[in-house]
Amino acid sequence: MTTYNDLWLIGIAWRLDRLRWAPTELLGVHVRGNGLCMTEFPDEPVWQDQCLTDRELAGAMCQGCPLVDECLELELRTGGADTLGVWGGMSADDRRELHPHWLRRGERAERGVAR
Ligand code: SF4
Repeated sequence: MTTYNDLWLIGIAWRLDRLRWAPTELLGVHVRGNGLCMTEFPDEPVWQDQCLTDRELAGAMCQGCPLVDECLELELRTGGADTLGVWGGMSADDRRELHPHWLRRGERAERGVAR
């Protein structure tokens, strides 16, 4: 049975399809050079003392980043099912659940893009 959570993750995987042909190296350069947390991360973020779930923390950390999809695509390729931390506006648990849905999209598995 497909759950609401599955539908949410499938929607994200579909959204990332537009990046499936982007070279991994280019994604890395772009995210490292322009991602919000790479360029403007505050010393004392407003959420640092709040009691947040991992999902809420990811949403707060990445809010306003112009490269959420690029960061998420990059982490799914490089971290794969073993992904850790906050990347692409998602918690590690959510990304691990997203990973099999993402792998099924396009030609990722056949091309060897993902681990
Ligand atoms: S999506 Fe989040 S983790 Fe990725 S570069 Fe942007 S702020 Fe950083």
